[in-house]
Amino acid sequence: MQINPKKCVACGNCTYVCPMGAIYIDPVLKRATIDRDECVECYTCFNGLSQEHLPPTLVRTVRSVLSTLRIRFDPEPDVCPTAAFEPDELTWPRVVRRAFSDPRVPHESTGVEGRGTEEVKTNDVTGRVGIGDVGFTIELGRPGIGVRFHEIQEMCRALARAGVAFEKKNPITSLMSDVATGTIREDILDEKVLSAIVEIKVPVARAEEIVRLVWEVEQRIDTVVSIGAGVRCDEQGDDAVVAPILERLGYHLERAKTNVGLGRRGTPAPAPESEMVST
Ligand code: SF4
Ligand code: SF4
Repeated sequence: MQINPKKCVACGNCTYVCPMGAIYIDPVLKRATIDRDECVECYTCFNGLSQEHLPPTLVRTVRSVLSTLRIRFDPEPDVCPTAAFEPDELTWPRVVRRAFSDPRVPHESTGVEGRGTEEVKTNDVTGRVGIGDVGFTIELGRPGIGVRFHEIQEMCRALARAGVAFEKKNPITSLMSDVATGTIREDILDEKVLSAIVEIKVPVARAEEIVRLVWEVEQRIDTVVSIGAGVRCDEQGDDAVVAPILERLGYHLERAKTNVGLGRRGTPAPAPESEMVST
């Protein structure tokens, strides 16, 4: 993303909408400027502000004249008055920033459509997480902090050393140069994204070990980590297997998503049909 300095009138509206705090008013240029290293190409500035097409010179003149009279002339807060934002033609490796940071845009750069993954939302048809399994979604980064791929790699390598298998259809897995070691391709390691989700599946007996491993890696990386756990429910729709483990580890569980099992697998599946996600 770029801001055209010939158009920007330094109203400052865009500085409030950037989830990464990457836009600032340059005190020398007196124009809004984007810190390219921090920008994750989420397009919130471009899509989130209405673009008006007022003449920049006129707006600057009016603002300047009125300011001498101690009167402020500001555009509405959800507007860029001069349509100063100009998206770049993104190329590799920078294009991966957008794939993980703009959820509205499916992108082929990861080899997987979009930022995300189905996780266990379609488990009634895929049967990925079976009885006795727990599927973990380990999300690194959030608006305001983001995450770089070398930090994601730190987590993936630790998980690989623990001998877990990564979900094949996950975008992060598709960007690994060596899935066995959790190594991510070198040319994107410095790229920054809003957040990214690593997906694994382990037997329930390893649930506590994995949570503790995630905690340990989180201490070493400069971002935040959220854990989601997808498990199969029993006939009453409850999870009496993984939930107690997570509660013992200090989590207050809320059921986030419930799959009621209306899908149909290609092959016969063991009952029960439903599953849940706890966070
Ligand atoms: S909203 Fe537009 S005119 Fe205002 S500071 Fe940002 S880029 Fe410049
Ligand atoms: S594209 Fe996103 S991260 Fe980059 S400047 Fe705009 S709002 Fe900020």
